[in-house]
Amino acid sequence: MNPIAAATEAVRPSARADSAVTPEPRLLVADRAAQLYSQLPVGLAASVAIIVVAVYALRYSSHGWVVYGWAGMALAITAARAGLWWGFQRSANTGQARRWMRRLAIGALANGTIWGVLASMFFGLTGEHEQLFILLVLAGVMVGGISMYAASWPMYALYGAPIALPFTYGLATHEEHLLQAVAVLVPMFYAVSVGVAYRLNQLFLSGFRSQHAYRKLNAEYTALNQRLAQQLEELSVARSQVEASGRKLALFVERSPIAVFELDPQGRALHVNPAAENIFGYGENELSGRVIAEYLFPPERRLEVAVRWKAMLHTRQPAMLLRQRTRRRDGNEIVCEWSLTPLVNSEGRVISVIAQGRDITQQLEAERLKQEFTSTLSHELRTPLTSVIGALQLVNSGVVGAPDAETLELTAIAERNSQRLLELINDLLDLEKIESGKLPVELQVMPLDELVREALVLNRAYGDRFKVCFEVTGELLPARVRVDRRRVLQVMTNLLSNAAKFSPEGAVVEVSMLDQGAQVRVGVHDRGPGIPASFHARIFSRFAQADMSLTRQKGGTGLGLAICKRLLELMGGRIGFSERAGGGTTFWFELPKQA
Ligand code: ADP
Repeated sequence: MNPIAAATEAVRPSARADSAVTPEPRLLVADRAAQLYSQLPVGLAASVAIIVVAVYALRYSSHGWVVYGWAGMALAITAARAGLWWGFQRSANTGQARRWMRRLAIGALANGTIWGVLASMFFGLTGEHEQLFILLVLAGVMVGGISMYAASWPMYALYGAPIALPFTYGLATHEEHLLQAVAVLVPMFYAVSVGVAYRLNQLFLSGFRSQHAYRKLNAEYTALNQRLAQQLEELSVARSQVEASGRKLALFVERSPIAVFELDPQGRALHVNPAAENIFGYGENELSGRVIAEYLFPPERRLEVAVRWKAMLHTRQPAMLLRQRTRRRDGNEIVCEWSLTPLVNSEGRVISVIAQGRDITQQLEAERLKQEFTSTLSHELRTPLTSVIGALQLVNSGVVGAPDAETLELTAIAERNSQRLLELINDLLDLEKIESGKLPVELQVMPLDELVREALVLNRAYGDRFKVCFEVTGELLPARVRVDRRRVLQVMTNLLSNAAKFSPEGAVVEVSMLDQGAQVRVGVHDRGPGIPASFHARIFSRFAQADMSLTRQKGGTGLGLAICKRLLELMGGRIGFSERAGGGTTFWFELPKQA
């Protein structure tokens, strides 16, 4: 390996170095170059000083031109090295450190050559004092070079070689045996100096490695700190969120109108909310740590409660205890709707149970009153109304004598309005029965086309009243459906009467049947005013009517479609409507086909 290459090669990190702390070789070269160049001004100043002193000391020892010629060459080399220093200062690119190292190595060789030439040119020519001077100078520059090139021992070797080696030759060939002895010592000193430079170089390298390792650790420490700070921030955000939701939850529990107990798996109260205190009349301190079932349920009902409790603990699934008569502190009984929710930890163990109890006594009372009202409606209103209508019909038909025209007009109005009242009562009773699940439906498999035909016959008179006729379009399909005959006729009657009511006089209402695969669809198509878009969402709700004034003229309760929807759902079907091309509406219902 050539010495210049060696000078730059030696900057690679040693293979033995701990890889975790070994800095990037490129960075280390840059560090060494910076260190070597930072020493350069001192070296340059020392070189100029020594050159000046040497010229002064040797000016008479030889021909003047030889001394000045050497000094010129030495100063030129020193100036070139100064230029090198200046160039390095201006280059900001650490990526070119190797190139700057190579240039510096050439500079070191040239610098050594200055002193080598000084020795070989003047040592033989001069007297003893000058020889002593030259020896001192050489010793000085050799020793001074060690600190100059401490960051690269091969560079020191390059610097020292042209000083020591030619001079050794000069001494060895001198006749004075003392100087011959010195010739033996000079290469030895050189070797020792290179050794010392090598040791210094090692120290330098380990210093730089430590520095880099420290920087890296520092950077990692800073990054770690930043990460920690970020995680702390996230944790504190999460904590405040948890705290906020905890507060919210506590507020819900505290303000809830529902009784909430937190119980341990043995059913002992851990926490009781204010609503529970209000509902059952026990203070939290009375129930805390006690099995609440013993307070709230009489002995004969505790077994059932215990069975449900055990099942809930076993399955670890929420349980609805449903309605239970529950005892208050004052001995009165109320009906509560209970639900139990087990809180399970990450190991699958139930740590506590949230029991919620809703006092539904008043709700049950309201249901009872509603039922009472319905039966009043049915018996106390409908029965007399039916006989009123019967009587009015008799009067209007003239069976009991012909009334005068004025009386007849009044009794006709009375009959029409009584009919409307009866219709309303019947609709209300129907809806009530459907919603309380008490409407009896007798499902039988039968052909739907026959029901459609029957409905057309039944409603013909109603159509005539509005000067509207019902016609079948296409073919009526003999599809079999599982339905309550009376209820399908009720749906058909409602759709046909609506179509007749809302169609212009002389219009035709078309009835169609369509096979939809698993379903069969019946459509009633009219040429009425259509359904306003704002009414679409409400049309199947109770008492929903788009235009009240029209209703007053033509009758209707706003309950018909709501009843149709529920009846069809009871029979597994559905109802809908769509706008009809050319004006009007199509109301349809679908029922599942039977084999
Ligand atoms: P009503 O006894 O008032 O007819 P429905 O529930 O049967 O009660 O109908 C509710 C409302 O829907 C009607 O008042 C009317 O505004 C609208 N409606 C129902 N059918 C039609 C139709 N074929 N054309 C236009 N509007 C209709």
